[in-house]
Amino acid sequence: GEDLPEVLEVRGEVMMPIAGFNAMNDDLRTNGEQVFANPRNATAGTLKRLDPAVVASRPLRFMCYEVVRVVGQDMFATHADAMQGAKKWGFAVSKYSALVSDAVGMIKFHDDIESRRDEIEYEMDGVVYKVDSQVLRDLLGSRARTPRWVCAHKFAPREETTKLLDILIQVGRTGRLTPRAVLDPVNIGGVIVQHATLHHAAYISDLDIKLGDQVLVRRAGDVIPQIVGPVLGVRDGSEREFVFPSECPECGGVAKANGEHCFCMNIDCPAQLIRRVQYMVSRVALNIDGIGDKAVVQLHAEGLLNSVEQLFNLDYEAIASLDGWGEKSVAAMRDGIAAALQPKLDKFISSLGIPDIGPETSRVVCAKFNSIGALLSLADNEHEQAVERLSEIEGVGKEVAGSLLQFVSSSKNQAALNAMIGYGLRPQSVVLSEDGHVDGIVSKVFVLTGSLSCSRPEMKAIIEAAGGKVTSTVSKKTDYLVAGDKAGSKLTKAQELGVEVLNEQQVRAMLA
Ligand SMILES: [Zn+2]
Repeated sequence: GEDLPEVLEVRGEVMMPIAGFNAMNDDLRTNGEQVFANPRNATAGTLKRLDPAVVASRPLRFMCYEVVRVVGQDMFATHADAMQGAKKWGFAVSKYSALVSDAVGMIKFHDDIESRRDEIEYEMDGVVYKVDSQVLRDLLGSRARTPRWVCAHKFAPREETTKLLDILIQVGRTGRLTPRAVLDPVNIGGVIVQHATLHHAAYISDLDIKLGDQVLVRRAGDVIPQIVGPVLGVRDGSEREFVFPSECPECGGVAKANGEHCFCMNIDCPAQLIRRVQYMVSRVALNIDGIGDKAVVQLHAEGLLNSVEQLFNLDYEAIASLDGWGEKSVAAMRDGIAAALQPKLDKFISSLGIPDIGPETSRVVCAKFNSIGALLSLADNEHEQAVERLSEIEGVGKEVAGSLLQFVSSSKNQAALNAMIGYGLRPQSVVLSEDGHVDGIVSKVFVLTGSLSCSRPEMKAIIEAAGGKVTSTVSKKTDYLVAGDKAGSKLTKAQELGVEVLNEQQVRAMLA
């Protein structure tokens, strides 16, 4: 552009013209990749990509809709002038605009554009009315988030009818089973729609949607197309009832309703694996050092993490040869996982991500059934009887009991838990007494050495509060030596006497 000001701040929107969107989806489809539902999602999805080359390859356009600040030149007196200025400086601005003087003019403009929307080269879900005069804008001011001199007037959503060919079940990362409609491809306002969401089982039955139905499909600019309902008048008797599966299509695991949605309960469901492991290692669950979200994704992609239990039986040699891993990082992960092998039972149970079984529920359940064996043996009872036993616990309702029973009754889940125990996992039935004493610490004798992350008096106070004793010299009576960095003669002495040596992480795990 010419005559550029010293500083210029503009606002605008990144968007994707329909022709470019359809061509891009064709390419994605040809390459066997997931296509986008609409240009808005495609734009947002593209901008999230970290690789600039991918972003550059997508047919994105920037369109300026507001000049916010000009330094070194006069600010524009009106919006119309500002848009002219932006255009002169080289920005794309909408050619669909008009200056009107009253509400009648505004509605007329809205209706005019809506009637021509199919000819417009990009998706438009409405028009925006703006006060033209900068002086009036300043007088009107702003609400909390939006100025008072602008408002949107949306178009009616677009709808078309087409045939419902099939309903597929998608399994999300939380294990949620979501029905997805497969449609006879239909052009809705320039975008070819082949899929629509059906939300959940009750949505299908409430609307009486059958396979083979002609259905009304609605598409608004920014949401996944959805089925409004069947066209009942054109049924010919060939339509078939859809039966929502009771098993997960990904893994065959049992699916359980929770609220209006259904969830796959199998701990080793491949669709949920990454999320389950990420949750298990996270701070709120087992808090395992040395392995994070990205590592979980990478190990799974490399075929080194194919089940939740495999977390405790990793092939560290193979991991050390992966990109981004070295001896130190592998050792840190190995130590982190080793230090997490003795979690409190309730922590461990809540780390499994069983629906309805959060930390608090897990704590009260484990106070009564305080070993893995006791929990698994619940499955040996008659269902009604087991529900009753669990429901006796304060804070455990029928939903929670059902969820837990479903989990422990699954042979896949039992096998996974037994495998973890085989790999050295030993959940501890730690019960906190009222005065804060911790089983496993009470009346044990500790000696501290080396530098810890807190001062030694602090660590001494923490151990004593949990019921342990702290002395200053290592002897045969010492149960544990807590060794920090640069531990010296006490460590040698402890090793000579065969006293168990803990690092700080391990002792904190015992105290947790
Ligand atoms: Zn599954």
